[in-house]
Amino acid sequence: MSIRKTMLALGAAILLLGGCQTNPETGRTQLRLLPSAQVSAMGTEAKPGLINEYGGEVKSAELRNYIDEIGRKLTPHVAEEFAEIEWDFVVLDSEVINAFALPGGNVFISRGLLQRFTNEAQVAAVLGHEIGHVTGQHVDERISQAVGLEGLLVGIGILAGGADSELVRAAPTVIGGLGTGFLLKFGRDQELEADSLGMRYMVAAGYDPKGMVQVLEILRDAAGGSSPPEILSTHPDPGRRINDAKRQIENQYAHTRNNPEYHLRQSRFEQRARPHLGSPSAVALFAPGFLECHGCCSSRH
Ligand SMILES: [Zn+2]
Repeated sequence: MSIRKTMLALGAAILLLGGCQTNPETGRTQLRLLPSAQVSAMGTEAKPGLINEYGGEVKSAELRNYIDEIGRKLTPHVAEEFAEIEWDFVVLDSEVINAFALPGGNVFISRGLLQRFTNEAQVAAVLGHEIGHVTGQHVDERISQAVGLEGLLVGIGILAGGADSELVRAAPTVIGGLGTGFLLKFGRDQELEADSLGMRYMVAAGYDPKGMVQVLEILRDAAGGSSPPEILSTHPDPGRRINDAKRQIENQYAHTRNNPEYHLRQSRFEQRARPHLGSPSAVALFAPGFLECHGCCSSRH
């Protein structure tokens, strides 16, 4: 092998192997091939379209401020590596029950979901879960898994004498073909991790982690067999997530049980959110477009 080809092979190996990184929030090693700025930019780009699709933001400034306040009690507790993220909490003026996050720190919750809640800890649980998808770098991980194979092929191309920047150039094409639905579809372990991170943030902010169990139960009951929303995606099953959350309350969050320092904040939710929510539709509406498997996650079922 010529020196040039040896150098290129080395470069390709660094590109591929160098993508394995430790997430500072979870300590878990993940495959992440793209620069974080590029992944965040994809989230920023998708944001206006998603807001439109859900009928825009709610008009009530009081409701928007209240949800934003809850989100900002959670974000100081993310790992310092994520301190620079500019978080934005968007309340969608939609009867559809949903919540989701985009890379870059945009977190969305629908009015239809808030209508079914009875306290502030439940809101904190959902926002915490979605923040957890961002700090868990779940979109980066999913894209890298999808791009990984393509990258390997490009790497082989590099070995055969191609340009060494082709992996980076190929990535956006691959991602473009995956669509926004892909960005919002997570795997089973990622959902459980987002639940755990959500509970970590809500407890750090003084909320009773029972709120997470309540959210999962509310969504399970509302779904009643139809497609559940992102927060309660089909994998893993709701029962598994509820049991996981309960187990964590019994173990690492045992100190929060019957402890007056950890709050559900029921009356504050009733005062500040309820008057702006309207009444829930008789039939629970879920967002089918974002919940269907686009063929890219079939191996995860
Ligand atoms: Zn989720």
